[in-house]
Amino acid sequence: MGDSSRSQHDVRMRGFARRTTVADALEWLDGQTQRLGAESVPLAEAAGRVLAEETISRVDVPAFDRSMMDGFAVRAADTLGASPYNRLELKVVGRSMPGSPFVGQLAAGQAVRIMTGAPLPPGADAVLPAELIEIQADRILAQGDVSPGKHVGQIGEDIAAGAVVLPAGRMLRPQDVGVLSSIGTAEVVVVRRPRVRIVVTGNELLPAGSTPQPHKIVDSNGPMLAALVRRDGGIADHPGIVPDRPDDVLEAMHSQADVILVSGGSSVGEEDYAPALLREHGELPIHGLAMRPGSPAGMGRWDRRLVFLLPGNPVACLCAYDMFAGRAIRALGGRPTDWPYRRVTVPLARKIVSTIGRLEFTRVRLLEGRAEPLAVGGSSILSSTTRADGFVLVPPDSEGYPPGSEVEVFLYG
Ligand code: AMP
Ligand code: MG
Repeated sequence: MGDSSRSQHDVRMRGFARRTTVADALEWLDGQTQRLGAESVPLAEAAGRVLAEETISRVDVPAFDRSMMDGFAVRAADTLGASPYNRLELKVVGRSMPGSPFVGQLAAGQAVRIMTGAPLPPGADAVLPAELIEIQADRILAQGDVSPGKHVGQIGEDIAAGAVVLPAGRMLRPQDVGVLSSIGTAEVVVVRRPRVRIVVTGNELLPAGSTPQPHKIVDSNGPMLAALVRRDGGIADHPGIVPDRPDDVLEAMHSQADVILVSGGSSVGEEDYAPALLREHGELPIHGLAMRPGSPAGMGRWDRRLVFLLPGNPVACLCAYDMFAGRAIRALGGRPTDWPYRRVTVPLARKIVSTIGRLEFTRVRLLEGRAEPLAVGGSSILSSTTRADGFVLVPPDSEGYPPGSEVEVFLYG
């Protein structure tokens, strides 16, 4: 891109002429995110990952008929008519234990001692529970009857060979991993996790772990973004603080990542180099958003990577991440794009005032079943998000809500 077109688009120190609506930005973004490819991981690492393909069992579980009770494997017909007044004698010819079956065939008039989970011997078709018999040396007296199949878990009763066990796109729960193990799975084909490079810019910043200094503040956004990326299923890579110099910012963007998050310098100030860099080396179709906090955000592409320019103000950074970057990272990783925040609808304790034309995030606290807007002004007060239980979204066409109106609160998890 030449100098003339660069200056034509350079909004530094001129302010945003026009802000993109959140709805338009989301529409652009959704057109840019396609699920990443698949990779294979050991079963032990599969929980929490997204299944890339439908899983079909090649085997029956269980692979044998098994006892569901402790008792005696019998032929049901041999117990017909048995009762405490008509005790029927059966000869005990052996035992079947879990993992060590009875060797041989059960004949008429015979019984095999059997434990829960042990294979039913060939020839038997039911299990007589311990409470329906009296044991006498090498024989038992049946004092009740059982029908064929009673207390027997059939082959394939849990999972039949050929059955769909789990659908593609499933975020694997611990119990899913248990089921996959039961069908003999060693490796699971899952969606690759998006790699996310975090570029934190600011000459005033000290790396996490430092003590704040008279003219310097400690990086909040880097650790916060890394945690958000992990929450959304990505792999965060935050190599350190980058000075406000174009070459350094560009250098820090070089990585194998699928997504780049640039924190700070996203707006129209003199030191805000990231937008110009992206215009020059990639594309920045969206810069300046009709939302608050988070209006100085932008998004575009650099090669095949999605790039999000996030405001340095920590609350704005969080809102812009949540609105756009998090959604994209979840979509790339095959997760639902919806927010991972639980919602509750409660009455408002005090009014919320909002400006027409922009989407507003209002942080609220829940007190006695009502949502109380926090009286914090700027988006630089990160601790307001820690005091808040969640936030209310006021849409661009609303001037806010009077006290007592029912509002939907998104709860920070
Ligand atoms: P900027 O978007 O770079 O103009 O930064 C806006 C405000 O956010 C300034 O007061 C910065 O000092 C502050 N800020 C920028 N980056 C961070 C960060 N990583 N952690 C905490 N505050 C930041
Ligand atoms: Mg800055």
